Amino acid sequence: MSDGSPRSGAYPASMVRLVEAFVQLPGIGRRSAERLAFWVLKASPEEAEALAQAIQVVKRTVRHCDICWNLADATPCPICADPRRDGGTVLVVEQPKDVLSLEQTAMFRGVFHVLMGRIDPLSGIGPESLTINDLVARVRDPGKNAGGVPIHEVILGLNPDMEGDSTALIVAERLALDKVRVTRLARGLPSGSQIEFANRAALADAIALRQDL
Ligand SMILES: [Zn+2]
Repeated sequence: MSDGSPRSGAYPASMVRLVEAFVQLPGIGRRSAERLAFWVLKASPEEAEALAQAIQVVKRTVRHCDICWNLADATPCPICADPRRDGGTVLVVEQPKDVLSLEQTAMFRGVFHVLMGRIDPLSGIGPESLTINDLVARVRDPGKNAGGVPIHEVILGLNPDMEGDSTALIVAERLALDKVRVTRLARGLPSGSQIEFANRAALADAIALRQDL
C-alpha cells in the first residue's frame, strides 16, 4: 500500500488496531507506532497493564483548575491553593505547558491564568474560544481568584509572535477599564521563540524585567 500501512493479514487485527492507535499520537509516524506496538507485545502483562492504567487514570482524574485553567488532579490546583503564592499577581499564558516552563525558573511567586490557546483567525480561534472572560471575571471579583484576593497586576506572558501579540492586545483591551496594572514579559525572548522551549535564564529575565503595556 502506498501509505505504508501493513498489508491486511501481515499483522493480527488486534496489532493493527494498536498501531493505528499509536499513529494518532503527536510526532509518531507509522514506523514508530509499529515499534511501540512491538514493545507492548514483548512487555510483561504487568508492564502493559501499568501503561493502560496510567492512561485511564489521567483521563479520569486530570482536569482544569476552576480558577486558572491549569491542568491538575484537583481544583483549585496546587498553585492556586498555595497560601504562600501571591494571588494578586496573575501571569497569563497560552497553554499549561507554559506554566511548567515558568515554574521551573522558580522566579515567579504569583499565580497563573491559562488562556487555553491564542487567537488565530485562520484556524477559526477567536477571543470567545479562549478563557479571557474567566480572567476578566477573576479581575472584577476577588471571590473568583486564588486565595480570594484582589488582582493588582496582570502580566501578559504570550509567545512573542504575531498571534501572541494580537492575543495580548485583546486581553489588555478587555482590562483597560479595570483598576489593574497590565504588564508584559520583557522582550528578552527572541521574536518567534516559544516560552515552552525558552531556557530558564531567559524566562527569569523576562519576568524580572517586565514592562508596562
Ligand atoms: Zn489553578
